[in-house]
Amino acid sequence: MEKALTLLLAVVLLSLGHTDGEENTGAAVKERTKRQIPKTVTVTTILEKPFAMKTESDALEGYAVDLLSELAQSLGFNYTLHVVKDGKYGSKDQEGNWNGMVGEIIRKEATLAVAPLTITTVRENAISFSKPFMQTGIGILLKKDAAAEGSYLFGFLSPFSKELWIGIIISYVITSLCLFLVGRVSPCEWTEPASEQNQFTLLNSLWYGVGALTLQGAEPQPKSVSARIIAVIWWVFSITLLAAYIGSFASYINNNTNHTPNIQTVEDLLRQDKLEFGTMSNSSTFNFFKNSKNPKFQMIYEYMDKRKDRVLVKSFSEGVQRVRESNYAFLGESISQDFVVAKHCDLIRAPEVIGGRGYGIAAELDSPLIRPLTIAILELFESGRLEYLRQKWWENTCSTKDQTGWAPVQTQMLGGIFLILGIGLALGLIVSFIELVCKSKSNADLQKRSCCSAFSEEISLRFGKTQSSEGVEKDQKSPTSNSCDEVKA
Ligand code: ASP
Repeated sequence: MEKALTLLLAVVLLSLGHTDGEENTGAAVKERTKRQIPKTVTVTTILEKPFAMKTESDALEGYAVDLLSELAQSLGFNYTLHVVKDGKYGSKDQEGNWNGMVGEIIRKEATLAVAPLTITTVRENAISFSKPFMQTGIGILLKKDAAAEGSYLFGFLSPFSKELWIGIIISYVITSLCLFLVGRVSPCEWTEPASEQNQFTLLNSLWYGVGALTLQGAEPQPKSVSARIIAVIWWVFSITLLAAYIGSFASYINNNTNHTPNIQTVEDLLRQDKLEFGTMSNSSTFNFFKNSKNPKFQMIYEYMDKRKDRVLVKSFSEGVQRVRESNYAFLGESISQDFVVAKHCDLIRAPEVIGGRGYGIAAELDSPLIRPLTIAILELFESGRLEYLRQKWWENTCSTKDQTGWAPVQTQMLGGIFLILGIGLALGLIVSFIELVCKSKSNADLQKRSCCSAFSEEISLRFGKTQSSEGVEKDQKSPTSNSCDEVKA
């Protein structure tokens, strides 16, 4: 009897342990879900390309439809899919009533919403979301030729980024200064500082830099090794820059004949008055601008709110149509914009994307379906299935010629040439000092005095105040050596 009891206890403990271990595995969750899920689930969606679109036979197809069928297969349920009655995503009115897909879930007219429904705080308080199946943000949809007018005036500056232009100007000034320094220090450039004119004055050095930069060649020609090192490095730098500039400018012109709009960011939108801009009313995008504390986004909201009858559209497709037919920029979710850009080659999305967000599958608040749905989404993600669906529905039908592949040359791309210039300048300066030291040494030998005093005299002759005529005479009388002449001899 005692033995039988012990055996029974062991079996119970074992089975308990087994349940605990298995409780949270994906398979167990799925198993439990299968038991909880109604045999037929009512699903709501919204007509938005390419998530859900009507076929000729009035059936639905698209990314969301494929995703739903994958989830149903994975979790083992049947479903009926319908399009949300009021055609809205879901927002709360003054009385606290929800419309759109969110409203249908709250009123239990649908169990799930499988659509490009953005996860937001207000919605998360009213319904539950799975982890996102797709990430997106807010972009600006434009017509290719919109706002391009008048943007060419300073187009010649566009091939290089602002930072690169600043880098070039700084490099030019530093190189000219180095040339000026070397022109003073090197005895080959300025043999007799007491009586002779220095050819590399500050003005001449600056002029020399411009001449080389524009491949025009300029006087004076450097004579010393040190100044020639600097000159050669500056020529190499100039040629590389010119090659990069010409290449980038050619593709810039090419792109602008394809009418790349000048609007890159939301700030650009605020700065111009040629295009009206707006978004979808009752959308998470509109609420993003409404609730944002960022002054730029607040300005966008104020603009849209003041003209709400004119600039807000009812649906995504209406927004796209307005962009194509009038001077209008549409603020909407970048992922949907990417789709229309891939299909309509006259449209383009500005590079800036703000307000990162995600689409989740929605169910009623604290629904037990959320966890299994999240697990199933993660499985689809990890197996590459979601990526496959993304590629399937976002296939690009515009030729690559229509794409905007152009971007200004950035500093990093030419980082190496800046480095070489830096090394060359340092080398030139070092060599000029060596040249001066050599000259001081031979002067010191000739005049039978210390090398240091000869060196400091040379330095003060080159950088000190102009000599008095008495000093000049004295200098002319004392024997000096010219290392350049010695080299030549
Ligand atoms: N997907 C959005 C929403 O859920 C629509 C948008 O904000 O553009 O409201």
